[in-house]
Formats: sequence, C-alpha cells, structure tokens
Amino acid sequence: MPSAEERREELKAVYRQASVCTRCPQLASTRQTVVFGSGNADADLMFVGEAPGANEDKQGVPFVGQAGKLLDQLLGEIGLTRPDVFVVNVLKCRPPGNRDPLPGEIDNCQDYLFRQLDLIQPKVVCTLGNFSTKLLRADPSTGITKLHGREEVRVIGPRAVRLFPIYHPAAALYTRSLLDTLRADFARLPELLALDPPPQPEPEPEPEPVIPEPELVAEIEAAAPPVAEEEPTASQLGLF
Ligand code: URA
Repeated sequence: MPSAEERREELKAVYRQASVCTRCPQLASTRQTVVFGSGNADADLMFVGEAPGANEDKQGVPFVGQAGKLLDQLLGEIGLTRPDVFVVNVLKCRPPGNRDPLPGEIDNCQDYLFRQLDLIQPKVVCTLGNFSTKLLRADPSTGITKLHGREEVRVIGPRAVRLFPIYHPAAALYTRSLLDTLRADFARLPELLALDPPPQPEPEPEPEPVIPEPELVAEIEAAAPPVAEEEPTASQLGLF
C-alpha cells in the first residue's frame, strides 16, 4: 500500500500529464488553464463538480466563483475548510461559453478523475449535480433530483467509496428551495465521514511480468529513442 506521500507524488505526475492534455482539441485551444483540482491530497472527503467556469479557467483553481463561495460557506457550516477536502471536476478544461460537457469530452477526461480517486483514496465522494453523479454511478439515466442525499457504497476503479450525490451549488444559487435541500444534505456529511471506510474489494491479481528478450529490447530502443518529457508549468503543484 503506497504511503500518502507516494500517492501525492504520483498525483503530481498525473497533474503534469493533464496540464498539457490535448485530448479534446476544442477545449485545449480555448482554455487558459487546465484546472486539475485542489486541496488535501490525502482527504477523506472529495467533491466532484462539473467543469471549470470562467473564473476557474483564469485562476486554475476549481470553485472560485459564486458557486465556490457557496461551497465554502456550506463547508464552514459543518466545520470544514477547503484544505480539509479535495475538490475536482469531471472536466479539467472550461467548455467555451460554459456549455455542458459533451459525452466525448467526458470520455476523454474521465481517466484523470479515476486516477485522482485512486490516488487520493477518499472515504466519501460527494458528487455535485448530474454530470459527476451519472459518471461515477455509471448510470446516465438516473438524475440528481432522485438521488440527492442518498448515500451508497460504490466500487469505482479498484476502490469502494461512500458516494453521496447532492445538488450542484450553482443550481442552489438561483432556487431557494434547492438551497435548503442542499444545506440539509450537506449537514449529513459529518455523519458519513464518521463511519468506517466501506469494505474494500479483493485486489485484482498482479499480471505476470512479461520479460522481454534482450534482442527485442535492443530493437525497440533503436527504433524509438527516449523522448524528453514536455515540461508543464508547475503553477498548480502548490494546490495539493
Ligand atoms: N462549477 C463547477 O462544476 N466547477 C467549478 O469549478 C466551478 C463551477
């Protein structure tokens, strides 16, 4: 089992890869920054939003606009602050004009989110709104109106977590009744965090290492000499 420090180092490697990502050519050409995520890389509680907006795109930090202020306020009401939790989005790049994420963009980006979940190892994953809830429950047809406030144990990648869908704070900014519901759901988080972590599935057996023939290694190396890694900006490394 890797230590928290080893997991954090690995998370930095995922950040370096994401920060120069061009899997979605449109998003890569319109974004200012890849918003990887921020907070405690060993947090018990992780929030998963939808996609960066204009403020997040400028600052490289998730949830820094009005929705973020509400998230901070709700966290404060349960005695937590941002550095206690980790905050990410389904998409790491801002969709132009704040349009909804496209299915192909979610496909392209989901591997970063799954690796973040695997490396941060939260006990509770709180999905904010429809996009993250549908993705992490692998069920595109059941939405947040039905699921909010209902915790369930879900195996995501190799790990089981307590998944807790709640309304997206941006939705609650405009509708008073949603804000009351969001606040009531939020108030259940301390009780979920106090539970033991859910039982973990048996790890998959390690595949047998394939030992390549020495001649084959020489042939592969001759055909493809090592490429120098592209150095991304290190600007977000201090965020987690
Ligand atoms: N909405 C999101 O889903 N994520 C952000 O980072 C900001 C607003």
